[in-house]
Amino acid sequence: MVRRIVLLGPPGAGKGTLARQLADDLGVPHVATGDMLRAEVADGTDLGRRAKKIMDSGELVPDEIVVEMAVERLSRADAAAGWILDGFPREVEQAIDFERQFAGAVPDTALYMRVDREEVIRRITGRRVCPRGHVYHVESNPPRTEGVCDEDGLRLTQRDDDTQEVVAKRLEVYVEEIGPLVTHYDELGVLRRLDASGHADAVHGRALELVSK
Ligand code: ADP
Ligand code: AMP
Repeated sequence: MVRRIVLLGPPGAGKGTLARQLADDLGVPHVATGDMLRAEVADGTDLGRRAKKIMDSGELVPDEIVVEMAVERLSRADAAAGWILDGFPREVEQAIDFERQFAGAVPDTALYMRVDREEVIRRITGRRVCPRGHVYHVESNPPRTEGVCDEDGLRLTQRDDDTQEVVAKRLEVYVEEIGPLVTHYDELGVLRRLDASGHADAVHGRALELVSK
């Protein structure tokens, strides 16, 4: 079974959802640069303040910041046996910098999650999160009590960047960046296409088949 996995796909494809499942299966950490940046925002750090403005506009945070965050995180002991990367690398320059700065940065598998645009928009607009990062969907994965996190009882909200306007920008950025990134991992021989439509458990099953090969 492979242990180092990069998840590629549009915002709202279900990367975080699948990453948590695979991290559990494989016993490796789920590393999401978006979650790390939101933690900086929540902590009110200088980086968080700078990043918040960019994130709320739907643009990408500068490469050197996210590459440094990822390298630092993956250098910790718990990532020695592998990792699931979610939302990073986001453009080919990040992948190249990552490979320059981190030995073993080429994943065993890059799963390229394919979902149609309408479904992505349904998933993003219905997403609800709690302040500790637990993720729900109003239709496909609702909490037991509306608006309240099952895990910690905290109030669920929409992410600030899950508004219609910002989502349109994030999808535009994604479309610009994904082609060269997919080519890069294809040339390295690690790209696998994953049909990410349908129920999350079905997507998880298909992903497990691909990473077991
Ligand atoms: P990403 O990390 O790619 O932005 P998430 O994992 O946060 O995406 O998923 C986006 C939303 O879609 C969340 O509300 C999640 O609960 C929901 N979701 C994830 N996978 C599926 C699926 N296969 N079918 C329906 N909804 C899903
Ligand atoms: P995500 O949680 O992956 O949807 O990311 C939310 C936002 O965080 C993005 O729209 C970017 O502004 C920022 N971000 C997350 N990961 C990266 C990355 N690898 N490169 C640049 N910006 C990122």
